[in-house]
Formats: sequence, C-alpha cells, structure tokens
Amino acid sequence: MEGLFHEDLAALSDLDEQSLLESLSQRFKQDRIYTYIGDILVAINPFKYLPLYVKEVSERYKYHEKSKLPPHIFAVADRAYQSMLGRLATGPRNQCIVISGESGAGKTESTKLLLRQIMELCRANSQLEQQILQVNPLLEAFGNAQTVMNDNSSRFGKYIQLRFHNSSVKGAKINEYLLEKSRVVHQDEGERNFHIFYCMLAGISPDDKDMYGLLDPTQYRYLNGRYGSEDIEQEKVDMMTILAGILSLGNIMFEPTETDALRVTGKSMGWLKATAGQFGVQEEELLRSLTCTLSVTRGEAIRRLHNQQQAEDARDSIAKVAYGRVFGWIVRKVNELLAPNVDIDVELNEIGILDIFGFENFAVNRFEQLCINLANEQLQYFFNHHIFLMEQNEYKEEGIEWETISFKDNKPILDLILTKPIGILSLLDEQSAFPQASDRDFVDKLNSKFKSSPHYEVVRSSSPLFTVVHYAGKVQYNGVGFLEMNRDTIPASIRDLFINSVTPLLSVLFAATISRTGTLMPRKAKLMQKADDNFNSTRKQSVGAQFKHSLAVLMEKMFVASPHFVRCIKPNGNKLPDQVDNKRVMDQLRYNGLLETIRIRRDGFSWRPSFKEFAQRYNILLIKPDLPLTKESCMSILNTTEIHGWKCGSSRLFFKYWHQEELARLLERLGKA
Ligand code: ATP
Ligand code: MG
Repeated sequence: MEGLFHEDLAALSDLDEQSLLESLSQRFKQDRIYTYIGDILVAINPFKYLPLYVKEVSERYKYHEKSKLPPHIFAVADRAYQSMLGRLATGPRNQCIVISGESGAGKTESTKLLLRQIMELCRANSQLEQQILQVNPLLEAFGNAQTVMNDNSSRFGKYIQLRFHNSSVKGAKINEYLLEKSRVVHQDEGERNFHIFYCMLAGISPDDKDMYGLLDPTQYRYLNGRYGSEDIEQEKVDMMTILAGILSLGNIMFEPTETDALRVTGKSMGWLKATAGQFGVQEEELLRSLTCTLSVTRGEAIRRLHNQQQAEDARDSIAKVAYGRVFGWIVRKVNELLAPNVDIDVELNEIGILDIFGFENFAVNRFEQLCINLANEQLQYFFNHHIFLMEQNEYKEEGIEWETISFKDNKPILDLILTKPIGILSLLDEQSAFPQASDRDFVDKLNSKFKSSPHYEVVRSSSPLFTVVHYAGKVQYNGVGFLEMNRDTIPASIRDLFINSVTPLLSVLFAATISRTGTLMPRKAKLMQKADDNFNSTRKQSVGAQFKHSLAVLMEKMFVASPHFVRCIKPNGNKLPDQVDNKRVMDQLRYNGLLETIRIRRDGFSWRPSFKEFAQRYNILLIKPDLPLTKESCMSILNTTEIHGWKCGSSRLFFKYWHQEELARLLERLGKA
C-alpha cells in the first residue's frame, strides 16, 4: 500500500502499467496532482482551483531541498534557476524546460506558473519582470481560442527564452510557431475565433466602436458565436482598424452577373466600402483583387476572372494573411520591448520554456496537423535521446555493467517525414513547385514511395487520404489543400494593394517579409540571409520547409542545454475536476513512454560528471584544495562521505539523481561549519 503514495515513482520497486496508473490516480484523488519520476515531473490537470500556488508555497520552494517538499512545478523552476547559476551541478548553464501533453492537459498554465516562480526567484520587482509576465495575456488574446478540447487553447507554439546575467533577468525573447491562421475564417462546431475579436467587441466604448467602424458581434460571419483609452498610440489604432477590417471583409459575399464577371451582393456593398475604409485602400482596387487574378506571362499581363469559389477563397486568404501578419508584428513588438539591454560582451545565460501544441488526431487531419504532429515526434525524439540513448551509450562506453532498457525509438518516423531527398515534406515541396499538380498526385506519389514503410499506410479511397503511424498512434491525413497550404503564396496584386495602403501599419506589414522563425524582418535582411543559406531567392520558401527549419533551430538550442521535462496529463475529456478516465490516462502514459522512463530513472545514473569536474567541485569536502583532478582524488572524496550506490567508469562517475542533492547538502553543512 505504501507504494501507492510515493512522491517519486522511480522509487517504486514493483512496477507495471497498472501500478503506475493506480499510484497516479490515488494521488490525484487527494489533490496531489504532481508526482516525480526521478527528475521528471508528471502533472495531472485538476480542472479546479487548488491552493498550491499562493505566496507562502512559492516562498517555501525557493532554494528548497527536493526530498523535503512534495513534488511541485515550482520545484522545477527552482532547479532550472539554480542550475543556470551553476549552483546545483556541473553541465551546461543554459536550461530548457520542455512541457508536453495533449490539448487541455495544462501546458500553458504550467508555463505561466514556471515564469511566475522564476521571476520570484530573481527577487527584484523590476519593470522588466512585470513586462515579461504581462506578455502572456497579450499573446493569449491573439493566439488562443475556445476549442472543443480546451476553452483557452493555444493555437500557436511558443518557446520563451529568459536571459540572465548572473542572477538577474536581463530580457526575454518569444519564438512563435505555426499560428493556426485558418481559424480566422473558419471554426468547426463548438469552436470560436481568436479571443481578441470578442474582447475587442466586448470591451470597446461606443465612441471607439464608431471610430473603428465596428458593429455588434452577431453581425460578423467570421465570429462563430478591453481596450480603449484617451490617448491610444497610432499603431494601436491601426491594429484595431485592421482587425475590424478583417471582420468586415468576412462579410463580403459574391454573386454571378449575366456576363462572366462577379459582383458583390447588394447586401454586402456596405461591407466592401467598410473594409476598404478600414484597410485604407481604394474600394475598386480591393474589389479587383477579390474578383480576378493578374498574371504576367512573357511580359504580357493577363487578367483571369474568378468564379464565386475563387473569389471567396481570395477573401479568406486575405483575412488569414492579414491576421498572421498582425500576430507576427505583436510578437516582434514584444521582443523589441523585452530585448536585453546589455553590452555585447556581457555573458548571458538562458532558461527556455517550450509550450507547444500537443499531438492531434481529429476526424479530419490536414497539413497543419501533420506539422503539429511532426513537432511532437521531434520532441519525443529529444526526450528519448536524453533519457535513453545518451545515457545507455555512455554506460557502454564507460564500461558500466548495465542491462539495456528498450524503448520505442521514433527516429524512423521522423525520417519518413523529414528525410531528404525523399521524405513526406520534400515530396510535398516537389509537388508544390508544379502549378498543375493536384493533391491527389501528391498522395499518389506518397503511396508509391512509402507503401512498404512500417510507419506509412496506403488508404484506398476516392479522396486523397494517407495514414502515418506516429509514436502516439495512427493518424489519417486528408491531402486536400496540402499543396495550397504549403505554398501559402499571396498574389502580387494583393500584396501591392496593401503596400499602398494609407494605414501605415498595414503597409509596413506587407512590405516586410516574415522570417522563417516567424518574426518580421526587412526584406533586405531576409535576402541577405537567403544568400547566406545558398537559398534560391527567386522562390519563396514553403511553409513545410520553414517549419522544418525553425524546428531544427529550436532543437539545436535544446540539444546543448540541460533539459527539464514536465509531462502534463489530462485526466478526462469533460474538463471536469475529480474525474479520472483510466483508459485515457493509460493511453497518455503509454505514448509518453513513462513506464520505460520510470525504469531508467530507477536503475539509471542521470548525473555523470567527469573526474575533473567532480574533483574540482567537491575537493573542498577533503579540505585539501590542491588535490590533483584525478580518479584517485574522486575516490578519496567519495570515501569520506556516506554516499553509496554510485559507480565509477573509465573517465567519469555515475550517480543517481538524488546523489546530487546529498552532496549539495554536505557542501552546505561545510559552509555553515
Ligand atoms: P492547448 O494545447 O489546447 O493549448 P494546454 O495544455 O495549454 O492546452 P491549458 O490551457 O494550460 O492546456 O489548460 C486548460 C485548462 O485547464 C485551463 O484553462 C485551466 O482551466 C485548467 N488548468 C490547467 N492547469 C491547471 C492547474 N494547475 N490548476 C487549475 N486548473 C488548471
Ligand atoms: Mg496551451
């Protein structure tokens, strides 16, 4: 019975899936939502207020001893901060905290709690710290929305980098990934548009409403379902006007005329006028860019008239691109505001927090889901790499006796999607380059290339469907729209229209290009960067290629940092407190690989300093500071302690995760003596 209430599951001796599930759910029933597996934190979403985050608790976890307090998200903050300062252990000073879990599991709430606690740890209550904390509500207003899975679902991924000089925070940077722009123009049953539109309409004063030309929320098709002060700056006015323009745009409808041309329905003439006014463009030009395409072939301009569907698509794509650019602009503004204000030669250390969309498997899965699931494969690989591969390889190299623990290696799935020259994404790019290719052609190509791959399944259907066997389960994708979404081009006529807008912000947003990391940069800088990368600058990079690149950059950063993992679990699908759906939880434990994780954390040695590192740091325990930094010195040091269970390899020592703390305690006692 005792085992059921363990705060660290790595200490469980009898272990199987059932006992793991039982331990977690027993604890959950007593509102103990946090549990350790060695140094990994498992967090189950309570879906109710718990008095776990009050000032007192936050104080208690500052510079705490892990074994003396129950598991907590604040403990993770503390460990990351102390490690960044080099107080806990040897290893890279830069830290990254990886938060994973499905939609509604509690990733964003955990991120906010971590940020808050890290700011508490820096102590000083400076303006910068306040600003860092205030960024979240802003990003959530523009990037979050109500979905069937979560009332406040993040529709973009983010990596927040906090930058420190010694113990004080000097700045921060937000990297955003893949905003779900399609939500601007379409939401499924039970879902809503981005929060900002509703906030804007609810919080605005009647005078301001007039100024932006806004009506009641029920009047807008794009809405399935607090701002305003005396001296608002121009940019903010522009932004609100653009958002209002997006809503008006969505109400423009078309109908055929007797000739080939389309016209705007009588009812929506007013919306056309409103949109043009809000976007600061000529009404006729806006209409022209919606109802026809201008293309230049061999120096000759050819105008092709749109049919009704094409005009509606043009309308929606303008809305999406405009919203995407507003979001990118906000992130850029935030980054300007939070950029570290220090001399170039000041060394900064970093704590990064990754809050990225969880694995998705809907009734219909599109290109966006493929990218999201790719990100999750990459994170799982990162996790496996740290927890299993690196650790076990080292045992072998160092001659430590060890029985290999197997785990589900998802590298082949990553290769299926990413590998050059024939991964799913490169085939998609290849097909996207042909203007005539169809989504069917793309899926046929996939089928012929990958039909024998164990992670790919051909689907027999008249629709262009295909299945990828992900680490977290099979997902069937619908290829419709893949080519278009991957190209994500805006017609030159539309770009020109907006560049010439009299609304300064809109003109700037379209004159600049969005960099691959999602931030805005002037076109010239972008061109220079392209040249650097040997990138063919006549063609815009595809969405898939951009995403792949930003993931690679992220992984590069993460692989050289000390990682901390928080695994969030959603206890039930009803967003209700005190309810555990065993099957759901078990599925999450399985695809998170938590059982194998417990075994390796229980049996493994997660801290592995070299003889030199160890002797340098702990020679003080022998009170002989001039000790040579050798294996023999390490042995003498360890022999003066009562620490046992460690092993000695050929170039380094192997410790269990709790040894670090035991040694820290010895040092502290010495300091006090
Ligand atoms: P998504 O992938 O959709 O963005 P998510 O994992 O970020 O999902 P959150 O938005 O963090 O999920 O959490 C969903 C909801 O669960 C929150 O709005 C909140 O109501 C509740 N919740 C999460 N964590 C906690 C907590 N520690 N205490 C109380 N409620 C919580
Ligand atoms: Mg979230």
